Amino acid sequence: MQLIIAGKAHPEDQAGQALIQAWSHFIQRTEARPHVIFLSDYDMLLTEHLVQGVDVWINTPRRPWEACGTSGMKVLVNGGLNLSELDGWWAEAYTPEVGWALGDGLEHGDDPARNEIEAEELYALLEQKVIPEFYTRDKQGIPTDWVARMRESMARLTPRFSANRTVREYTERYYLPAATACRERAVDKGEMGARIVAWRNALDREWAKLRFGEAMIEQKGDRCLFEIQVYLDGLDPDAVRVELYAEGINGGEPVRVEMIRGPNLVGAENGYLFSAQVEAARPATDYTARVIPHLQGCAVPLETSKILWQR
Ligand SMILES: *Cc1c(COP(=O)(O)O)cnc(C)c1O
Repeated sequence: MQLIIAGKAHPEDQAGQALIQAWSHFIQRTEARPHVIFLSDYDMLLTEHLVQGVDVWINTPRRPWEACGTSGMKVLVNGGLNLSELDGWWAEAYTPEVGWALGDGLEHGDDPARNEIEAEELYALLEQKVIPEFYTRDKQGIPTDWVARMRESMARLTPRFSANRTVREYTERYYLPAATACRERAVDKGEMGARIVAWRNALDREWAKLRFGEAMIEQKGDRCLFEIQVYLDGLDPDAVRVELYAEGINGGEPVRVEMIRGPNLVGAENGYLFSAQVEAARPATDYTARVIPHLQGCAVPLETSKILWQR
């Protein structure tokens, strides 16, 4: 086995520098010299050679410190296999058919015992799985199981972990809709753009004066009826939306129910009764009413982050 090490430590990263120093001491040992090399000045040119040349890419961060792991992705199209900690991209990508995994996918802080355990795991994997698979060859000298794993890795992972997919998704989900929205706003000498500016100015002018009045909650069988008074002062009622909000359960999506604007409140110039019904399964106290800006074609809260919560 040939171990090729490359990497850089940030000038402020003393632990990283000490690690590289420890490696350069280790590789000077006579028994290590034929098998280990450290390549200095890690940069994109060097990476290009590395990802094309290696058979196994080993990445051993301490979970959760791998930000992503792009270098492991670069290996894929070159037919290299990954043996890495279940962290960053590998926690998403790993299945037994495509490579090898270290760790249990859990976080253990900087418990030094963990280093020992995972070092043993790494040696065991290399000795018992990776190296035998690489050197088990058929009559033509082909490592058939290894080649099968390369094919699985390339076929399953390259479409998902590629810059092509990323750029396409950004283009389709964000850049093209943004370009369309920009064109819509420019039509008729920027009629819609002007409307947005007027809307935002009105929000700035009136927002501090908005207020909630009385709230009423009534259970009706398995439904719960919420009614709340909202005073909009000088603001066009169509410039906002009133909704009931509840946090998601167990990390799920939050619940947002639009409240319907009812009749003008007696004696108020621009006050309304808003109402909505929800299932009574959750306690009524889970729900809070809020006013948020609304304008067709405008992204809230991206373009205005105003919000008024019921107290
Ligand atoms: C890919 C690459 C990195 C990032 O590697 P990670 O595994 O994501 O940390 C850093 N430096 C160079 C030169 C690279 O080519």
